[in-house]
Amino acid sequence: MKTFDVIVVGAGAAGLMCAMTAGARGRRVLVLDHAEAAGKKILISGGGRCNFTNLEVVPERFISGNPHFARSALAQYTQHDFVALVKKHGIAFHEKTQSEGSLGGQLFCDGSAREVVAMLLAECAAAGVEVRLGCRVSEVARAEAFRVETSAGTFGAAAFVLATGGLSIPKMGATGFAHEVAARFGLGLTEIRPGLVPLTFAGEELALMQPLAGVAAGVEAACGRRAFREAMLFTHRGLSGPAILQISSYWREGLPIVVDLAPGRDVAGGLLAAKKARPNAALRTVLGDWLPARLAAALAARFGDGAMAQMRDRTLGEVAALLRGWKLEPAGTEGYAKAEVTLGGVDTAFLSQKTMAAKGVPGLFVIGEAVDVTGWLGGYNFQWAWSSGWCAGMAV
Ligand SMILES: Cc1cc2nc3c(=O)[nH]c(=O)nc-3n(C[C@H](O)[C@H](O)[C@H](O)COP(=O)(O)OP(=O)(O)OC[C@H]3O[C@@H](n4cnc5c(N)ncnc54)[C@H](O)[C@@H]3O)c2cc1C
Repeated sequence: MKTFDVIVVGAGAAGLMCAMTAGARGRRVLVLDHAEAAGKKILISGGGRCNFTNLEVVPERFISGNPHFARSALAQYTQHDFVALVKKHGIAFHEKTQSEGSLGGQLFCDGSAREVVAMLLAECAAAGVEVRLGCRVSEVARAEAFRVETSAGTFGAAAFVLATGGLSIPKMGATGFAHEVAARFGLGLTEIRPGLVPLTFAGEELALMQPLAGVAAGVEAACGRRAFREAMLFTHRGLSGPAILQISSYWREGLPIVVDLAPGRDVAGGLLAAKKARPNAALRTVLGDWLPARLAAALAARFGDGAMAQMRDRTLGEVAALLRGWKLEPAGTEGYAKAEVTLGGVDTAFLSQKTMAAKGVPGLFVIGEAVDVTGWLGGYNFQWAWSSGWCAGMAV
């Protein structure tokens, strides 16, 4: 049996950060992953450009059973620390230009997400970390130390780090490994569900949405007291786009979402004014001032789409109410196949917020998306992976 100080399972964002940090401290580190390539989710992230962090990281932008849990790790290894690392490797990046009212601070590579993976692997190599890919882990046991049975042999270490992420995108190799192993060692799990995921609709709502597939509009999408002002996209199954992905993480089955199609605009006043100023214009034409033409036509059709002069003031009031607060009842989500993240995971009550060490199981750590901490869209999930990975890397 070959022994190390630390074994990390998962060569993704969190696992590689943990490994390079521990390696740089002189720890002998082995990283195992069943995939043939490291950091596959990093490669596909941000449309291939990796939105690797956000300039405005605040704990309130993370969802967890314990909203305070992420605070310590995010403060110990910040977005500025990661930006410094990116700069050290000469990776060019930019802040995404933001549309009116939407969240800013999203940092993307100018070139390719490959540069981020290459950076992490270079840091691991410089720190003497051994990375074994295409390696299946069949058994994890703990006596004096951890003993890990794999397709590449048996390995031992005093510290064992679970960094295998969540269930999203199973066809890329996502598994419930971290959750299963954590549970076997007595750690609690919270309910898990897909997050940052397109919403699906049925019946009349879907019938209206389907022909609009491909149309995008700037909206404010709300669920309960949460609201996100961003772009929304119609799809063949319902709705997607950043506004919908964000609100999906707060949506629960049976709850409505409310979409404001003209955020901040006086639609009611504008329609009455248009009735006077442009009496011969069709409703769809006037709505086209605020909405994409195809969407304007579809909504106007619901109200008869007559000339403005023929529309009753009461009807125009209903049109305005629909635009400013379109109440929709999602049938479901597109599930883990399309979800960017998994909400829930290893219960934070069983982990140290400073080190990510499991309480009551010396040497066991859980980091990254496997933990019940999920960020908003916009680079927050990678920042959680870097921060939690760094904290564990400093503690192992
Ligand atoms: C399409 C898409 C785009 C995204 N874009 C962004 C973005 O731009 N910005 C952002 O902040 N977040 C983004 N995310 C979310 C982000 O990718 C994840 O939150 C982040 O990768 C989690 O890091 P992690 O290290 O915990 O897990 P992962 O990066 O998922 O790494 C887990 C690793 O564990 C390995 N593994 C899994 N099971 C096993 C097993 N049984 N045995 C051995 N190895 C195993 C996997 O192969 C993988 O290498 C995106 C997600 C998706 C799906």
